Amino acid sequence: MADTIFGKIIRREIPADIVYEDDDVLAFKDLNPQAPVHVLFVPKRALATLNDATPADAELIGKLILAAAAYAKREGLDKDGYRAVINCNEHGGQTVFHLHVHLLAGRRMHWPPG
Ligand code: 5GP
Repeated sequence: MADTIFGKIIRREIPADIVYEDDDVLAFKDLNPQAPVHVLFVPKRALATLNDATPADAELIGKLILAAAAYAKREGLDKDGYRAVINCNEHGGQTVFHLHVHLLAGRRMHWPPG
C-alpha cells in the first residue's frame, strides 16, 4: 500500500503525541480532536482499509482493539464509556488510508452518528 502520514509517524519522521506503543501497535493523539479524548490506534504493519483485512490479520486487528480498550481502562474512561470507530472509504469518512481505530471519550456520544 502507499505510504501515509501514519507511516511517517510510525517511523518517527514526523512528530506526534504518542501515548502507547508495543511491538504491533502505535497510539497517538488525533491532531484535530473530536472529543476531549481522541486517540488513534494504528497497526505498525499497515493495511489501507478494513476492506483489505483477511483472516491472517485477525490477531493484529484484535490486538489493535484490545490496545484501545486497555488504554481506556488505564485512563479511567471505561466506566463512563467511550466510542471505538473504524472509518472505511468515502462513505465511512476515511481520510488516511492506513487502518486505524479512533478512541473517542470524555463526552456523551450521539447515535445515530451524522
Ligand atoms: P479518518 O478520517 O481516516 O478515519 O481519520 C484520520 C484522522 O487522522 C483524522 O481524525 C485526522 O484528524 C487525523 N490526522 C490526520 N493527519 C494527522 C497527523 O499528521 N497527525 C495526527 N496526530 N493526526 C492526524
